[in-house]
Amino acid sequence: MQNNSQHSDGLVVILATGGTIAGSGDDVGYTAGQVGVADLVAAVPALAGRALEAEQVAQVDSKDMSHAIWRTLAERLVHHLARPEVAGIVVTHGTDTLEETAYFLHRVLGPAKPVVLTAAMRPVTSLQSDGPQNLLDAVTIAAHLDVRGVLAVLQGRVHGPVDVRKALPFALDAFSSGEAGPVALIQEGQLRALRPWPAGTPLGMSAIGTDPAAWPRVDIVVSHAGADGVVVDALVAAGARGLVVEGTGNGTVHASLLAALARAQATGVRVLRATRCAGAAVVGAPAGALPSAGELSPAKARIELLLEILTSAA
Ligand code: ASP
Repeated sequence: MQNNSQHSDGLVVILATGGTIAGSGDDVGYTAGQVGVADLVAAVPALAGRALEAEQVAQVDSKDMSHAIWRTLAERLVHHLARPEVAGIVVTHGTDTLEETAYFLHRVLGPAKPVVLTAAMRPVTSLQSDGPQNLLDAVTIAAHLDVRGVLAVLQGRVHGPVDVRKALPFALDAFSSGEAGPVALIQEGQLRALRPWPAGTPLGMSAIGTDPAAWPRVDIVVSHAGADGVVVDALVAAGARGLVVEGTGNGTVHASLLAALARAQATGVRVLRATRCAGAAVVGAPAGALPSAGELSPAKARIELLLEILTSAA
């Protein structure tokens, strides 16, 4: 475990995409993605005097996040990360799909500088507004000399891109890294690392091409009591190139659904087996089992499969 507070004077770029952190209204009946990034920064007095640049990349409720926005965001990140004066980047995002964007950016960019996603569970107009503190923490981490990789910070916990997930739909402390735990804590502006920063071999922008509309169709199906193969057969007919099955328990799959997945595999569709148990990995691979998604949630396994298909086609 290490304690440190090494802030650089380097520039932090804030890329805004919308979400509740930019929302307006009451705690439940608000509209996400209303407030521009300049106003988000202005709402945090402690950011006055910091070297910041801000750019509005999108303005969406993250339930509506799209492949096209991911592509644009990745492109803007590549642009700013290449600037020597930039210490790190903050991405403001909605909480609903933050974990997917984090994993996508981790796999495609795997940056050597910090890219810190943050969000809020309450709009800026709420009495319980959590966005300003989360934004301040994110900027502090993005300016930190020792940090690298894609991270997410909410409620003082710094999560890695593989494990982070929204675990609760309404509570302020909604995010978890499941069994793995957070990679660091940030308390009173002091960063305390608990585990190594995220590393891996990024695929690079060439892996995703220039046209997200050309990305292969990859879907998620769920195994449950009474499941059958109707959805799988329909998805294959609709052109799915990959399917993630959200299995029960340790990635087990209803026999009728399994039969349909085997039919899909026989036509060249790639399949990955994840678990619907939140925050846990599929352990082991019994003989004859479908390929395992391991520690990836079904939503992240979908991204992994999409990237796998894209890169194997290249
Ligand atoms: N629906 C919102 C979003 O994901 C929720 C939030 O940001 O908390 O954009």
